[in-house]
Amino acid sequence: MIGDLPVIVVGSGVAGLCTALAAAPKPVLLLSRDPDAVGSASMLAQGGIAAALDRGDSIQAHVADTLRAGASHNDTHCVHLLAAAAPSSIRWLQSMGVAFDQDGGRLQFGREGGHGVARIVHAGGDATGQRVTTALAAAVAAATHVQWRSDVDVDGLVLRDGCVAGVRVDNGGRSETLFGSGVVLATGGIGALFPSTTNPPGANGAGLALALAAGAAPRDLEFVQFHPTALDVGVGSLSLVTEALRGAGARLRDATGRLVMGDAHPLGDLAPRDIVARRVWQARRDTGAVTLDARGLDIDWAQAFPTVLAACLQHGIDPRWMLIPVTAAAHFHMGGLHTDDIGRTTLPGLHAVGEIACSGVHGANRLASNSLLECVVFGRRLGASLATQHTDAIAASEGAAGTLELVSRGPGLEGEALQLLRDTMGHAASPVRTAKALLEASETLAPLARLGWDARLGQSILACAYRRQTSLGTHWRADDAQRRALPLKNATT
Ligand SMILES: Cc1cc2nc3c(=O)[nH]c(=O)nc-3n(C[C@H](O)[C@H](O)[C@H](O)COP(=O)(O)OP(=O)(O)OC[C@H]3O[C@@H](n4cnc5c(N)ncnc54)[C@H](O)[C@@H]3O)c2cc1C
Repeated sequence: MIGDLPVIVVGSGVAGLCTALAAAPKPVLLLSRDPDAVGSASMLAQGGIAAALDRGDSIQAHVADTLRAGASHNDTHCVHLLAAAAPSSIRWLQSMGVAFDQDGGRLQFGREGGHGVARIVHAGGDATGQRVTTALAAAVAAATHVQWRSDVDVDGLVLRDGCVAGVRVDNGGRSETLFGSGVVLATGGIGALFPSTTNPPGANGAGLALALAAGAAPRDLEFVQFHPTALDVGVGSLSLVTEALRGAGARLRDATGRLVMGDAHPLGDLAPRDIVARRVWQARRDTGAVTLDARGLDIDWAQAFPTVLAACLQHGIDPRWMLIPVTAAAHFHMGGLHTDDIGRTTLPGLHAVGEIACSGVHGANRLASNSLLECVVFGRRLGASLATQHTDAIAASEGAAGTLELVSRGPGLEGEALQLLRDTMGHAASPVRTAKALLEASETLAPLARLGWDARLGQSILACAYRRQTSLGTHWRADDAQRRALPLKNATT
């Protein structure tokens, strides 16, 4: 019997949904914590998706911008794959029912930091993620080859003779083992390991920690992108205040009223994201608060920035006449599980795609609006490759010969211990890092690492950040003498 067991895909963000669709006609078992794609970062994406579709743009130009942003730490082969597949990916999404915003029958292109031309397509203004994810989720729900089970937490991997053969799920306190012809982790990022993040609360690196525990190799774990302007209204998951607002004239000020960017960069408040994030982080530390001053701007708030306006008003801040409190917050993980160009990790039978994966496509810093694209391009590549993979179902099934081993994620931290982990990560693995802070943080986490998988994952990130002694991309080592001498010249764009 050939290929009877399903491919198991964990995660229903854009990466998991695209993989599931592309694996047809193979049967797919899609597992996620939340129904539909609720709770995914994909739902929150605001800016859009990058693709060289406009006249005057080219795949080469998209590649060049991606490499420049990534400080040339990228895997160039994967960058070429990404940029070359971008135009057809947008057309495929349109065929899936995504209505990208148009002007007079032609796609509208936005421009974001680091892009040499306007090449960002968007849907419903700043609701791109929600529109794309909803359309893909509807297609998956209608697909006969996909069985979708939500409200399950994957907390274990089953290995047979060292090869991943299935998963263990926790279904409301009841454990169940499921066998598959291959396992795909599409479980997203790690923002929830930090005190402030733009990510949803579930983006805590659970899948990454599990795969590392099973022996899959990590790559570039130290590279975390921070967004300079998350709404500073507490801790945890914070709303994003889009950089387009700075594009419309809003200015960052510290608690004393001084301009945060001052003469730090020729582009001022519109300097590359990592530079602005570092300045915001520093100014908030030094003066206690940073605000975005958007008062008196000549803009139609409801039309241009409905999401920001609603988020602010929800917290009693009317940005039309009040300062918006902002903070730098963990936003995107460039690092993750080491994968090749079709999502294979170093552990046989285990695949990864989307934000959890690290094919090297983003290098040391992600170019804006390249991540949804990564989910679509590499999700479809992975799905297509799984569709043609022949698996002997008998050899893969529960009763098959071979030694079975269960690798469990184990318990996570809770309450004060979890907050200590987050605060420690926020202090040491922040936009500005030093060897001293990273070492101290590692010592702080040592007792916690015995108690929780999330602390062990935090330690792995700290260790990678400690080992990379020179600044690169988003990884800024304040104790890197060479970099201190050239504070902004090598900065990524
Ligand atoms: C506020 C915000 C704005 C952004 N804007 C943009 C943008 O404009 N353009 C762009 O390209 N990118 C943007 N990004 C980044 C982009 O949204 C993400 O990188 C991308 O959506 C990640 O997709 P994913 O499928 O890998 O993960 P996610 O979309 O996060 O999905 C992860 C899935 O895994 C599930 N899951 C996790 N752990 C488990 C487990 N143990 N068991 C079962 N299920 C599990 C979750 O429930 C979820 O379904 C933005 C991100 C944020 C947070």
